[in-house]
Amino acid sequence: MRRVPVRPDLAELSGYHSPQVDVEVRLNTNESPYGPPEAWLAELRDEMGRIDFNRYPDRDALELREALAQYHGVPARQVFCANGSNEVLQCLLLAYGGHGRSVALFEPTYALHRHIASLTATTVASGWRAGDYALDMDVVARVLDDARPVITFLCSPNNPTGRAEPPDVVRAVLGRAPGLVVVDEAYGQFAPASALDLLSGGGPDAPRLAVVRTFSKTWSMAACRLGYLVADAEVVEACASVALPYHLDALTQAAGRLALRHADAMEARVALINEERGRIAAALGELPVETWPSDANFILFRPTTRRAGALWEDLLGASVLVRDCSTWAGLAECLRVTVGTPAENDRFLAALRASVAR
Ligand SMILES: *Cc1c(COP(=O)(O)O)cnc(C)c1O
Repeated sequence: MRRVPVRPDLAELSGYHSPQVDVEVRLNTNESPYGPPEAWLAELRDEMGRIDFNRYPDRDALELREALAQYHGVPARQVFCANGSNEVLQCLLLAYGGHGRSVALFEPTYALHRHIASLTATTVASGWRAGDYALDMDVVARVLDDARPVITFLCSPNNPTGRAEPPDVVRAVLGRAPGLVVVDEAYGQFAPASALDLLSGGGPDAPRLAVVRTFSKTWSMAACRLGYLVADAEVVEACASVALPYHLDALTQAAGRLALRHADAMEARVALINEERGRIAAALGELPVETWPSDANFILFRPTTRRAGALWEDLLGASVLVRDCSTWAGLAECLRVTVGTPAENDRFLAALRASVAR
């Protein structure tokens, strides 16, 4: 049988992979170390008994969107939900990107922005962040003025470098960008500020701002695949028009709606993780590693006395898995550790101390 060639532009793309290895301490994909509340699980079990499994789910996910709208103090027509925030991003790119259009992003940042843009045949214009990984507004202005992108992506807090964009910076980017500014806030609740405030604050630029969030990290629901966007109703309609019919199943819709009743428990987990982040950052400060401040549930660091690859292997030998970013552009010799439970973080720090002492 002859091989059927895939799209030539796809053949050049490498997929997005996060290698999973069987370890005792898994700190490589920024998930929550804690499960969702028991009460949520009990409610979801009850809800499951009420689902008409022979019927299609609510195509507009209206109850879920209304619950999210209430949570954020916006109307439901300003909320779009999908299978993880990655599907939200894909819908945005299907609706606004495509052949002959471009998007802008600032490296190093979340790899999926570039990847999904490429999958949708959208041109990517990019610039580099400054040495401390903050946005360099001169670079931003040059990229935006040259490329005139239909979407400018920000990631706040930025994965994998950790800092949230200050509201002034988001405002400045929005003022300069000719099209939509999409702020990926997958780690938004760990950070002191959110672009959602700019949205609700109104202003002439607010209709071009879209904020993307997910249940995968702060809500401890990565297995559910639920993400959403808060934006102008026109953007929501555009995304809905490119999503597949019934893309969001009834169980996921219920899971998200019920989770919002347990926002206090989510916030308590976020507070715990932020406290542990502070403890890890302080411990890293005592070791021969360079680190960057984080507003998220992970910390980027660069060993100064050992190669990142060797250190990663040592940690793995101690059954601690972190993310090896050392081959990613702009992140030479960097590793990223997700904040885990206190016991997991102790295991990580002990293994790290042993490794840097070699
Ligand atoms: C983890 C992550 C996501 C989450 O994607 P989901 O599809 O919602 O699981 C989105 N954006 C960034 C920057 C992330 O790090």
